Amino acid sequence: MFSKSEIRDALINYPLKEIMEKATCEKRKIFGNRILIRGIVEFSNHCSKNCLYCGIRAANINVKRYEMKEEEIFEVVKKACELKIKTVVLQSGELKRKKILKLGKIVEKIKGSFSLAITLSLGDLTKDEYKYLKECGADRYLLKFETSDEKLFEKLRPNTSLKERIKNIYTLKELGYEVGSGNIIGLPGSNLDTLINDLLLIKELELDMIGVGPFIPQRDTPLKDGKSPNIDITLKFLSLVRLLNPISHIPATTSFDALHPEGRILGLKSGANVVMMDITPPKYSKNYKIYNKKTEISYYKDLAEKMRKMTEMVEKSGNKLFFDIGASLKAQNPRLIF
Ligand code: SF4
Repeated sequence: MFSKSEIRDALINYPLKEIMEKATCEKRKIFGNRILIRGIVEFSNHCSKNCLYCGIRAANINVKRYEMKEEEIFEVVKKACELKIKTVVLQSGELKRKKILKLGKIVEKIKGSFSLAITLSLGDLTKDEYKYLKECGADRYLLKFETSDEKLFEKLRPNTSLKERIKNIYTLKELGYEVGSGNIIGLPGSNLDTLINDLLLIKELELDMIGVGPFIPQRDTPLKDGKSPNIDITLKFLSLVRLLNPISHIPATTSFDALHPEGRILGLKSGANVVMMDITPPKYSKNYKIYNKKTEISYYKDLAEKMRKMTEMVEKSGNKLFFDIGASLKAQNPRLIF
């Protein structure tokens, strides 16, 4: 299923159940029933950009801004390690250079103290900044392209361009990062062709990790009245992502739960092999509202309790949590991994 017309046909005509089963089968061939877990620390909600769909955009005066202290980040990572989590994702809005330098020191300290992988998700930086953070010890980088439609990209992400974004993805690869990217399904202004092109771009980028999630309107943004896609098209899209990218790591993200009460479980039944656990202290996490309805087990105060809920959810999907660094399979023979 690689041509444009075959993807179109699958999105329009394939029964959802059938395509989810195919995606699960493909996932099981490579990963068995093991689901990797990554802990996310949303360490700052400051951002210099103004993306129209994002709740922490610079122009949103209703959001209480925060930045976690170095000791707080370190403490939360320590707790994640105690729970056997082997990858932490450090995420924020786009930061100023001074903050990047500070973050590099934190990355160095974490890598020097624990045996885990660090993924960064900090948006567009200069090549020098990406290089600096890699040298500090960062292993992976997430940079979603959001939409493959250049005009829509420029409209929704003022003063940025898709070309620049893609260039940054290739720069990250060149610097030796494991790289993740993906889109937002059903962005206002997108259509079926956008989805098809998004799938083709994901495939073309040969990604180590692929993050896809539905558009969820956020009340303090210009797109507050936009409509989310339905769960069926979202799951079909995710299933196709798996079928087109058999060995990439693909999470079932919390945004799926905003569409359906069992959204993430359904995501795990549509080819996803990763879950993300928000380990940000709740006093900060409540202000990282990139979209509304960010409800979830993340609001359990105690991380151990959160982990129990996560384990239950994964088992309900017919899988098992797997505590491993979960490196990219790109450079390895996936059949030899487990
Ligand atoms: S999507 Fe990212 S870059 Fe855009 S406003 Fe939100 S945090 Fe900032």
